[in-house]
Amino acid sequence: MRCRTCGAPAAINMRQHKLSLCAEHFQPWIIKQTARVIRKYRMFTREQRILVAVSGGKDSLALWDVLLKLGYRADGLYIDLGIGSMETAATPAPYSLRSREKAETFAKAHSGTVLHVVDVAATYGESVAEISHRKRRTDSPCSICGLIKRHEMNRVALEEDYDVLATGHNLDDEAAVLFGNVLHWQVGYLRRQGPVLVADGEGLARKVKPFCRFYERETAAYTLIAGIDYIYEECPFATGATSLAHKETLLKMEHETPGTKLHFYVNFLRAKEEGLITTNLDIPPELHQCPKCRQPTMSDAHCRFCRLWE
Ligand code: SF4
Ligand SMILES: [Zn+2]
Ligand SMILES: [Zn+2]
Repeated sequence: MRCRTCGAPAAINMRQHKLSLCAEHFQPWIIKQTARVIRKYRMFTREQRILVAVSGGKDSLALWDVLLKLGYRADGLYIDLGIGSMETAATPAPYSLRSREKAETFAKAHSGTVLHVVDVAATYGESVAEISHRKRRTDSPCSICGLIKRHEMNRVALEEDYDVLATGHNLDDEAAVLFGNVLHWQVGYLRRQGPVLVADGEGLARKVKPFCRFYERETAAYTLIAGIDYIYEECPFATGATSLAHKETLLKMEHETPGTKLHFYVNFLRAKEEGLITTNLDIPPELHQCPKCRQPTMSDAHCRFCRLWE
């Protein structure tokens, strides 16, 4: 395989685009494509302040890097979930500790950027690992973790006055979620799924996913080529997650027909624009303000996040 631009040996072959590129030409391609997606979905402008949710993994660090290279005013948010704190010798150091180090190292290497850190256990009294253990009969670690992350990302974005919250979700993530939502015909989720989640209520931050059209292997290749150090291992709670099974199914389909994931996702977005999902669910749910944390909630009393600690 040869690079389409210069003819040198290719570093990556993107079969869905019928495009091979060498390392030197792949990096600007990723940056250019990200800029295109930001423009296409009107994610944010040059003047706006962006908060990137960084996990220490490849996608979020690559996203932060690309946004900085594009000249955006982008800071980071790391949420220390305290995962790995109840693991055994099989994991030499807690997962969260190691991923936090990666996020901090990246921030230090990019002067002028700010990394906000929320330590869940220090702030609220319990880590995700501890709550998951306490609530093991009723809730999965991922549902607890997701709830905490959504709450804290929204809180920091609003408190620190950011215009938009950017996450590193890639096409593999988005296609797997879409697959799950379609399998169960979860119309409410399908209605909201997309590259931009508008803040359809006071107290809610606008959320965007500028990497939603990149395959996971592309963001991995970008971090390697850009020399970004990230946490390689998966969260110990990730094993057995349904989204992983969906990813594997899609991977098999992609292998047989390159471009399956991209077309599945992009054509879904197009079909939505053409009116695929127009139901009475388009009426936004009535939101109240949680009396404790002041964030919007559908509940009349404390929000789900606040109830977690009661
Ligand atoms: S795998 Fe689950 S518990 Fe681990 S970071 Fe992701 S959502 Fe949280
Ligand atoms: Zn080249
Ligand atoms: Zn609350």
